[in-house]
Amino acid sequence: MHIETQCLHEGYKPGNGDTKAMPIYQSTTYTYDSTEHIGKLFDLSVDGHMYSRISNPTVGFVEEKIAALEGGVGALCTTSGQAASLLAVLNICTAGDHFVAASTIYGGTVNLFAVTLKKFGIECTFVDADADEEEIQKAFRPNTKALFGETIANPAIAVLDIEKFARIAHKNGVPLIVDNTFATPVLCRPFEWGADIVVHSTTKYMDGHAVQVGGVVVDSGNFDWTNGKFPELCQPDESYHGVTYTEQFGRAAYITKARVQLMRDFGMYPPAIAAFILNLGLETLAVRMERHCRNAEQVADFLAASDKVEFVNYPTVKGSPYAALREKYLPKGASGVISFSVKGGREDAVRFMDSLTLANNVVHVADICTCVLHPASSTHRQLTDEQLIAAGITPGLIRLSVGLEHIDDILADVKKGLDAI
Ligand code: PLP
Repeated sequence: MHIETQCLHEGYKPGNGDTKAMPIYQSTTYTYDSTEHIGKLFDLSVDGHMYSRISNPTVGFVEEKIAALEGGVGALCTTSGQAASLLAVLNICTAGDHFVAASTIYGGTVNLFAVTLKKFGIECTFVDADADEEEIQKAFRPNTKALFGETIANPAIAVLDIEKFARIAHKNGVPLIVDNTFATPVLCRPFEWGADIVVHSTTKYMDGHAVQVGGVVVDSGNFDWTNGKFPELCQPDESYHGVTYTEQFGRAAYITKARVQLMRDFGMYPPAIAAFILNLGLETLAVRMERHCRNAEQVADFLAASDKVEFVNYPTVKGSPYAALREKYLPKGASGVISFSVKGGREDAVRFMDSLTLANNVVHVADICTCVLHPASSTHRQLTDEQLIAAGITPGLIRLSVGLEHIDDILADVKKGLDAI
């Protein structure tokens, strides 16, 4: 099936006489015929739901859909994108371990990796994703367990060379984790380029309507966890009576461990109603992405033509350093998110933003409605000046998330902003 069809038909598949709409199984618990069966569930020797902190049929339908969209063996929904990134890393890193991440990733993820995980004894080294392989290699250590990057970085709109990152990760015997939030599987499927794990903030395009925070971890099933670096996946887990994930679950070892061990213990699993709402967003994802891309391309060109604009970060703009990577990884478009800097710095950025009437000034991005944000004073406020530069954020940088409105109305609003400078 094409991805447009998968968005509608993967996941819940109604049978004869079933409800057409995906049912909401609003229940914390499940009933069984025997104590023996419950025992088997707790030994992971039979499939089934135990408790809605670990799995739920409605959430499960959406996990199946997202796994299919990304081309993975399984997915695990979480209550936020942050929770997804956290789980993806914690599933393979423990105290004393280290991992490497691109410096351009979302500011909240930088904080999670650099500050919070450090308190738990897990260290992260940030690298320039555009550097050559030898340079990035220098960040790796014997205790390095993963490499992490974003397909389209928020808000630098840098396009990740996924194949290069996968090569480096695999040379070091570790998986590549890719945050595919902005691209969505409609524009790029990182597993096809060698990524091993994908995470999303479903809060963004997947939901699309700014109604719900959520996340998901997807497993490609392709990484060999038995290479000696990941004992937790291929040695008996005492908390499940000695289950060995790689032996019992094969290609689904990583995603099964994330669910039955980490999700059981951390409990950041979404409720059924959240999955129902997310599914509504997913059904129209492919159609929306097409329009977001076409609108954003025109807005980016319009901004690039203004003498009040210092630079525009969008891979289709003339002279973009990411043109070749966009052609390779994002042939259908580069999402609706643009960032640009006005020549007058912070003050002019604020003037631009405050004179818009259509675009919402919100702490949100990748929405059906056009919205705008000044990262240096909001989402990336906690970053040091050094981290801001590494993340490609100048004082005058504005993130403009182009929505689905008519292009003429969006351009008129952007013109109003530029005229105010
Ligand atoms: N990844 C990216 C690329 C993001 O932009 C965000 C949030 O803006 C996150 C992860 C975190 O997601 P959430 O806000 O759903 O926790």
